[in-house]
Amino acid sequence: MLTELKQRVRKILRLLKRAYPDAKCSLNHSNAFELLIATILSAQCTDARVNIVTQDLFRKYRKPEDYLKVSPTELQQDIRTTGFFRNKTTSIQGAAKALIEDYGGEVPHTMDELLELPGVARKTANVVLGNAFGISAGVVVDTHVTRLSHRLGLSSQKTAEKIEQDLIPIVPKKDWVIFPHLIIAHGRAICKARNPLCEECVVEKLCPSSFLKTGVMPES
Ligand code: SF4
Repeated sequence: MLTELKQRVRKILRLLKRAYPDAKCSLNHSNAFELLIATILSAQCTDARVNIVTQDLFRKYRKPEDYLKVSPTELQQDIRTTGFFRNKTTSIQGAAKALIEDYGGEVPHTMDELLELPGVARKTANVVLGNAFGISAGVVVDTHVTRLSHRLGLSSQKTAEKIEQDLIPIVPKKDWVIFPHLIIAHGRAICKARNPLCEECVVEKLCPSSFLKTGVMPES
């Protein structure tokens, strides 16, 4: 069963890599600290919106100290359009303070240390470790990865943590970082939440939820 699943995932990966050769982290950043901030901002917000906000934000705030020089109200205004801006301000200023006090202003390289930072959960830590440091500590699970994992029959779990635990044994470790980028690219282009385009899907033959097989539109 696990072997069959692993083989299917390998085939899915091969086809998605061919379909989306440029798949990568869609949050603009030029270093680990910027990626950390962008990922905190991306909660309940599109990456496109975050990229608009960080264009100015990263010019104004270049290092952790800069986020602590302003009042919470000022930072709230600067990130307002990403939503949940009060909580995100608390997280960003808390994380900036912890980075300065505990890590010499640098972003730490381990899951345990990242999880200690305010506002940083496993998804954010995985994004930073994988995309800023090239460290495969886990698999990022967002709404696209959740939806496609269900449709592709890779997990039936509901929470991101449990879905990640289902994916870890079946996705080759060397692909842990690229896997979510490929799935997100496919989720945006073809396997959309509503009305997935199964007839145009490159992994249709490997998908148990395909409309062409079941005659039923897959659930979102
Ligand atoms: S066949 Fe349909 S449901 Fe399955 S992955 Fe492709 S688009 Fe999504």
